[in-house]
Amino acid sequence: MKLVFLGPPGAGKGTMAGRLSEEKDIPHISTGDIIRGAIRNQTDLGKKVKEIVEAGGLVPDDLTISLVEERLGKSDAREGFILDGFPRTIAQADALKKMTSLDRVINFQLDDEEIVKRLSGRRVHKASGRTYHILFNPPKTEGKDDVTGEDLITRPDDTKQSIEKRLEVYRNQTAPLISYYKEEGILTDLDSSPSPDAVFADLLAAVS
Ligand code: ADP
Ligand code: ADP
Repeated sequence: MKLVFLGPPGAGKGTMAGRLSEEKDIPHISTGDIIRGAIRNQTDLGKKVKEIVEAGGLVPDDLTISLVEERLGKSDAREGFILDGFPRTIAQADALKKMTSLDRVINFQLDDEEIVKRLSGRRVHKASGRTYHILFNPPKTEGKDDVTGEDLITRPDDTKQSIEKRLEVYRNQTAPLISYYKEEGILTDLDSSPSPDAVFADLLAAVS
């Protein structure tokens, strides 16, 4: 099953991709996680994009496209994958079309007020990308990852200023992909405002 998760920041794409990846045993490929890993390891790419990412801008298309091309070339992605956070521009979608076919694009829908609430309470485990919310999806012990017990952090781009920038980038550059994939006949809208369990049930129905 070859899936793309599309939607504004904070809509729950990463959370649902983690759950679906376990359920269906297909890799969860998050360009955000890959890019944050590069920043953490201070690779050439990481150094080049750190400021852009923290300010809420988009990493240049040529860089993200080569990251995804390399990742999709690995054997575990041959039969299926969940692409979370890619494509984010028309140029990326055109490039993806040349790399692989897609079964379905899930369009996570959430209004701005709820997005801001979700992003401002988001906490992450840096090493694994596991994501929590201080109110909506709290860890078992406050401030600690459920699996490793390590500290959770607030992402440097989950600040008020960067959230506003990311919403603007989403509207201008990513939202046009909704009609792009609608025209291809593979888009399914998903209301991501209910509880995580309810959204996951709807997601399973959408991909079955
Ligand atoms: P995205 O990958 O789309 O940016 P995340 O999966 O990181 O979104 O979710 C954003 C925040 O909202 C996280 O703190 C997450 O725990 C929380 N969250 C995810 N899904 C739901 C939901 N259905 N209801 C409430 N909070 C949610
Ligand atoms: P969120 O789901 O909260 O928007 P992601 O983890 O998907 O965050 O992405 C975090 C940041 O990484 C983006 O704001 C952007 O700077 C960069 N990024 C991730 N995916 C892409 C992409 N496909 N194209 C360009 N930049 C990207």
